[in-house]
Amino acid sequence: MNRRQTLKLMAGAAAFATAAGSRALAQAPAGPFKLPPLGYPYEALEPNIDTATMRIHHDAHHAAYVNNLNGLAAKWPDLSKKPMEEILSNLSVVPGELRTGVRNNLGGHWNHTFFWELMTPGGAKAPTEEVNTAIRSVFSGVDQMKAVVKAAGLAQFGSGWAWLAAGKDKKLTVFSTANQDTPHIYAAAKPILAIDVWEHAYYLKYQSKRGDYIDAWWNTVNWDRVAANLRKATA
Ligand code: MN
Repeated sequence: MNRRQTLKLMAGAAAFATAAGSRALAQAPAGPFKLPPLGYPYEALEPNIDTATMRIHHDAHHAAYVNNLNGLAAKWPDLSKKPMEEILSNLSVVPGELRTGVRNNLGGHWNHTFFWELMTPGGAKAPTEEVNTAIRSVFSGVDQMKAVVKAAGLAQFGSGWAWLAAGKDKKLTVFSTANQDTPHIYAAAKPILAIDVWEHAYYLKYQSKRGDYIDAWWNTVNWDRVAANLRKATA
């Protein structure tokens, strides 16, 4: 694909995202779940994450999970009355016929909300001392931790997420989950950092090069947020 075709594709994708976003907002069923704002402009993470991807990812993909959740909440009102983490930690409370929908859409809403907050155009560019100490107690250093997270993201077959989390022993651990599964589903782990490795998170800019996306993603990390997540996960 030459540059002109690429630009045309991206312009088309951006127009689609705007249309899809407005449509999603216009048709959003009234309900308790709301799409949280990004907290920064779509273009803020350039050149690491491109504007069109951010727009589609937030306004179309995340919006779809929220809309689906409102549809599910209409059938099972408890969905919005308990903390999300409580339901994700114990999906057996969900009526059987709605369980897969809740797993996918509540997981998708939780994961993306967590993910947007993990990225920032500003903020600390390196791990805080506290985060560094936790990393060094398990890995040789930040570079090795990044390599292990990248390997988990590359090894995730199909769609999913790569995680840095605190295990039951409060030590850092790395794993991946499929689809929109969150660490809460696997009771023992509390999330600290996540990389979305669904193709929708990177394909417009990186195409099949998931590893290049993961390498660039580290330039967007909000290390202050990672520190706050670490404190919460190990409290
Ligand atoms: Mn995503």
